[in-house]
Amino acid sequence: MNYRLIPVLTLTALFSATSVMVAQEKVDKDVQWKIRREATDNSQILRTLHFLTDVYGPRLTGSPNLKAAQEWVVEETARWGLKNGKLEPWNFGHPGWVNEKLSVHVVSPVKDSLIAEALAWTPGTTGTITAQTVQLNVPSQPTKEVLAKFFDDNRAKVKGKIAMIGAPAAVPVTILTPQKRREDNDVRAQYDPVNPSGGGFPGGNPPAPTPGVVPANQVAEQLDQFLVAAGAAARVNDAGREHGQIRAFNNRTFDVTKAVPTVVMRNEDYGRLSRLMADGRTVELELTIVNKTYPEGATAYNVVAEIPGTDKADEVVMLGGHIDSWHSATGATDNAIGCATMMEAIRILQAIGVKPRRTIRLALWSGEEQGLLGSQAYVKEHFGMVENPKPAHAKFAGYFNIDSGTGRARGMSVFGPPDAAKILREATKPFEDNGFFGVNATQSRRRGGTDSTSFNEAGLPGIGIQQDPIEYNSHTWHTNLDTYERIIERDAQQSAMVIAAAVYQLAMRDQLLPRLPKDKMPALPTTTQ
Ligand SMILES: [Zn+2]
Repeated sequence: MNYRLIPVLTLTALFSATSVMVAQEKVDKDVQWKIRREATDNSQILRTLHFLTDVYGPRLTGSPNLKAAQEWVVEETARWGLKNGKLEPWNFGHPGWVNEKLSVHVVSPVKDSLIAEALAWTPGTTGTITAQTVQLNVPSQPTKEVLAKFFDDNRAKVKGKIAMIGAPAAVPVTILTPQKRREDNDVRAQYDPVNPSGGGFPGGNPPAPTPGVVPANQVAEQLDQFLVAAGAAARVNDAGREHGQIRAFNNRTFDVTKAVPTVVMRNEDYGRLSRLMADGRTVELELTIVNKTYPEGATAYNVVAEIPGTDKADEVVMLGGHIDSWHSATGATDNAIGCATMMEAIRILQAIGVKPRRTIRLALWSGEEQGLLGSQAYVKEHFGMVENPKPAHAKFAGYFNIDSGTGRARGMSVFGPPDAAKILREATKPFEDNGFFGVNATQSRRRGGTDSTSFNEAGLPGIGIQQDPIEYNSHTWHTNLDTYERIIERDAQQSAMVIAAAVYQLAMRDQLLPRLPKDKMPALPTTTQ
């Protein structure tokens, strides 16, 4: 019996206990057993991963690689027997961008090759260029006047030079290695239905800007303008991470004419060059960068495929994750493995021949890395917000999202009342042997770090899956090390099993998940992201 019924029953048992009783969720043990067997015996996870990473990676939004990956998903899921597979367009508004070649060498005072990645949506070099370096220490938290003086003082210095931005970060040697699996007791405590401990998503508003200080994003924008106008040959940023890790993001304007050729260099090489310059030596680098832009990338796509429902086919339960990646590796843990896991979950259901009452829809988003853009566009187009809903809003059964690397699923959090979590908790309880320990409810509509929050924001039951960290935050997330080799197949199999079972439950039960009543629905947060 559910813990919450006890006080309620003592008060009302004499009258009408059944009318207040939240029934124990019925779980189909036979289907759950078939899910386990299919997941273990016929896993397609590594095949899917190989295509998404080795064949089509990296998958930057708007790039031809990503579109090819999405077209492959449509073909592959059709081969499995899924229906209605297609690419759904949304307006990205920026060209696609691909780095095809990059080499960085120091040619004076020593000769060596250096490790760097291109910053996305920056231009390439015109052939191979050789130029001296100059270090630019941009003042921190400058006022308008301080920043203007800094640009004036350095205009002549950067012309024709390679600008290295800032002193190298001092990255301390790691003494304690981060924990790769969470302890069962910690996870159990997080999902304790009576008294959950911490966990969940951090919220809160960004700090208010300091008066008189130019905000960091404006400093960055003005620095880009300055380097272009002053005729800098190229720019080098310090990756600032240990063990050669590089995280390369993008020129925020997405316009290659508004930046100079830019690379992010591993901290070890950046430090070496900086120390040579600090000795008073003249450092010269040779750069070859070939980048291409694709205007057709302005239309980006989400990819969907379905198992059509039967008697409740107009009601939909969804599962997915983002298929776009950053560009400095093949995006294996972020988020090819999430796509492979969700594709596997729906493949398993198709393979064991379930006839779901509701339609089960796989959706793989793009534009996630630029701010959940694909899932935002999809929710807006198909469901609308709870304040201004489209008809499909009321018929939506839930959206499961996975996006935290290769680690096995340890729990979930669903947007809605505690009873929504109770239903999912009971449906997934048989998977405790896989280390899956429960489901919490969240009432936050704040747009967060991944696509489930696009659904939460709209007042829909978005379901975020929490996972073991493995090497995600410490090594692979957004880095040049995010490759096929970092995947643990067994973990992804275990995730796929529990997700398939939970999806099946929502596709079969008589009622949709309970939602927050109107008077309990939190207002839309004023600041998102
Ligand atoms: Zn991601």
